Amino acid sequence: MMRLPFAGPLTPVEPGPRTIPEPPRRGEPGGEPCRICDQDDGIWSDANWVLHEPVGGSLPGTLWLASRVHVDSFADLPEELAADFGRVTARVERAILALPDVGRVHLYRWGDGAAHFHVWFMPRPLGMLEATRYALPVWEDALPAATEAQLQAAREVVMSALA
Ligand SMILES: [Zn+2]
Repeated sequence: MMRLPFAGPLTPVEPGPRTIPEPPRRGEPGGEPCRICDQDDGIWSDANWVLHEPVGGSLPGTLWLASRVHVDSFADLPEELAADFGRVTARVERAILALPDVGRVHLYRWGDGAAHFHVWFMPRPLGMLEATRYALPVWEDALPAATEAQLQAAREVVMSALA
């Protein structure tokens, strides 16, 4: 059922040579400065977390959540923040589910860009079963950008559900 937004058949290729050691990420020693440390209060925030809307994108309701504190991953979160992550994630998921036409909310943690804890929430359109699992971010990249009016409408629903 899952399908990527490309015409087939795709040709399998071998992985290229590895890069070891890996180059430093933003916010890591030797890397560029962390830009997330300069974050504003996003569309919602509390003492521990800031919820941001990406610039543009094709799936209105897509959001990313960052810790206020500069730590890298789950393994580095202080215990109370690690526990609080479940609470805030449920709250954000419920707010995105308040949008019409959402089948499921996907949660992605990549960590290859910036070394400051953040996760992505991406709403899978209702009935779009080809965009299950890891196909959704690929579809998100391939689909035409949402209009500002569509983004604004989604923002209003999510923000009122968070309030
Ligand atoms: Zn940072």
